[in-house]
Amino acid sequence: MSVVDYLNTIGVLPSFNFRAGVFDGATRVNGDEMVRRFKIGNTACFACSMACGNICLVKEGRFRGTVVEGPEYETTCMFSSNIGIDDFSFVVRANYLCDELGMDTISTGNLIAAVIEAQERGIISEEEVGFSVKWGSQDEILALIEMIAHRKGIGDVLAEGSFGVIKKWKEMNNLISQVKYLEQSAYDAHASECMALAYGTCDIGAHHNRAWPIAKELEVGEKWSLEEKVDLVLYHQAVRPLFDMLGVCRLPWIELGLSERFYAEAFSAATGVETTIDELLFRSDAIYNLTRAIAVMLGIRRKDDYPPPRVFEEPLRGGPNEGKRVKREKYEKMLSIYYEKRGWDENGVPKRETLEKFGLSDVADELYSLKRNNQK
Ligand code: SF4
Repeated sequence: MSVVDYLNTIGVLPSFNFRAGVFDGATRVNGDEMVRRFKIGNTACFACSMACGNICLVKEGRFRGTVVEGPEYETTCMFSSNIGIDDFSFVVRANYLCDELGMDTISTGNLIAAVIEAQERGIISEEEVGFSVKWGSQDEILALIEMIAHRKGIGDVLAEGSFGVIKKWKEMNNLISQVKYLEQSAYDAHASECMALAYGTCDIGAHHNRAWPIAKELEVGEKWSLEEKVDLVLYHQAVRPLFDMLGVCRLPWIELGLSERFYAEAFSAATGVETTIDELLFRSDAIYNLTRAIAVMLGIRRKDDYPPPRVFEEPLRGGPNEGKRVKREKYEKMLSIYYEKRGWDENGVPKRETLEKFGLSDVADELYSLKRNNQK
C-alpha cells in the first residue's frame, strides 16, 4: 500500500490545509496511479541496491513531457490533498517547478494551502494576491510558485516563509501549520499526541525527520499512558538522528526492518572502533542536548515547543478521526514529562548536570554564564 493510501485509510492524510484527514481523490494520486501512468524508471543514491527513487514522466495532457525525479510522498501530499487537487500530472509539474527554482516542496505547498484558506476567510484579499486562488486552482498555484521564486507581488512575502507571512498577517499564525517557523511535514497530528509532541519538540521545527511515531501510536498505542507516549517520541528522537550522525540512510531500518544494532556493527566494521548501539544512542542524545543548549542560547524555550494551534483548537474533519484534536492540558503534561526525562527544567532548558553527563561541561558553562548575565 502506498503512503497516500495508508495515511488516507488511517485518517491522517493532510487535506485542505491540515483541516481534514481524508481526501476523496486519494486513489488518483496514490502509488498505483504513479506506477501505472507515470513511472518510467528507478533512481538510487550511490551504490544503493534499494534504489527507492522514482523517475516520472507526464505522457499526456497539458503538462506532457515534464520529467521529474520523484515525486516523493511529502511532495505528493502538499500538491494534491492539501491543496485539493486530484491530478498526479499536476503534482509532477509542481515538483518539477520547485526543483528547477530551488524551492522546498513541503514549505512551498504548505504556504500556498494557507494562502488559499486565508483568501477564503478574507484574511488575504484577492488584490493582495493579484488574483483569486481556490482549492484545486492549478494555474494560479503554479503562478504562485513562480512568484515566490522571483519574489514578485505577494511572492516577496511568501519567500520569507511562515516567519515573514505571520509577521505581515498576524492571523496567519492560526492558519499556517508550522513549528519554530518550519512548515509542517505531511502527517496530520490531530489524532496523534505522539506526533504533536514530536513536531513540538523537534529541534528544527515541524519536521518528521527526528521522530515519526504516528503509525505506531495509531496502530497499537492509542491507549498508552502519557509516559509511554513520551518514551516513544524520545526513542525515535534518539534512533532517527543516529542515521544522520553516521551519514547513512535510515530507509533500510524503516522499510526493511533492519535492526538498529546492525548500524553499531557496521560502524565498528568500517572504523575499527568497537561500539554498541547503546553507546551510539547516548551520542545521539548528546547531540540533541547540544543543539537544544544552542537553541536556548538563541532564545528558544517551552513557549516554542508546541504543535500548530489548529491541532488543539480545530477538530479534524472526515474519516476515522473525525472530531479529534489534541487536548492542551494533556499536551502540557506530556511536555513536562518529556523535559523531566530529558533532564531539562520546566522551561525546556537543559540542566547543568545533564550537559555534564554528556561531556558538555563547556557548553553548560557558556549556557549558565549567559543565563546569569541575562538575569542581571
Ligand atoms: S534507500 Fe536510501 S540510500 Fe537507497 S536510494 Fe533510497 S534514499 Fe538513497
